[in-house]
Amino acid sequence: MTNGKMKKKIIIGNWKLNGSLNMIENFFKNLRIEMFQSSALDFVIAPPFPYLMNVGRMIRRYHNVFLGAQNVDLHLIGAYTGEISSLILKDVGVKYTIVGHSERRMYHLEKDAEIAKKFLLLQKEGIIPILCVGESLSEKRSGNTESILMKQIRPIIEMIRNTDFLKIMIAYEPVWSIGTGNSEDPSSVQKTAEFIKGYILDNLDIRREFLFIHYGGSVNSKNFQEFIEKPDIDGLLIGKCSIEYRSISEIFSKIK
Ligand code: PEP
Repeated sequence: MTNGKMKKKIIIGNWKLNGSLNMIENFFKNLRIEMFQSSALDFVIAPPFPYLMNVGRMIRRYHNVFLGAQNVDLHLIGAYTGEISSLILKDVGVKYTIVGHSERRMYHLEKDAEIAKKFLLLQKEGIIPILCVGESLSEKRSGNTESILMKQIRPIIEMIRNTDFLKIMIAYEPVWSIGTGNSEDPSSVQKTAEFIKGYILDNLDIRREFLFIHYGGSVNSKNFQEFIEKPDIDGLLIGKCSIEYRSISEIFSKIK
């Protein structure tokens, strides 16, 4: 899996609104460093904001574990009560940030244009944004997956076209598969990942090695391997199972 030319694959753990100081202590007490270091995978943990510093301290000992955030505000500083900026995320050591997760689109009515601005803001701070895209069940049934994906990705392409961007990371997460136990078929995800790469390569001056497509949607320690072995699936975004140290240990110990 790690031949010289291949990109290092990555697991992104989205803890969502879960966790506690106790849980974090227990999680790291049970993650064996050696098992992580010998794995061919990188791991990004995106805890709730108040725990960023705690998780950041815990991961210092692991060279392949990085700090992530689940969202960012559009503003950099000022009177925006309750928000967190890219400057603050950078200050506390965040390396990756999820933008446009379907739960934010659904519960906070985030739109593609706003998400694209967040993507750009993060890139400017040197934080790698992970853009979540994906179709609903009715969009899938009516054969609209590709047009929905293009609609969600196009604003990012327009926004960063003339900027000095680092790389593009996209998490393809069919909305109907998130948290439901119904994951998409790995071969179908491979085709969609190929489609997304083709769409971006046709519309942006970027080299393939700077383009990363991840899959998310009910991935667990039993089914993850079928996804990660596909050539165009560069990593996985995992919600529920990423807070379980047993699942994470199983995943990392299987990929050498
Ligand atoms: C997610 O949070 O994006 C996700 C894919 O969750 P789950 O793995 O629980 O489906």
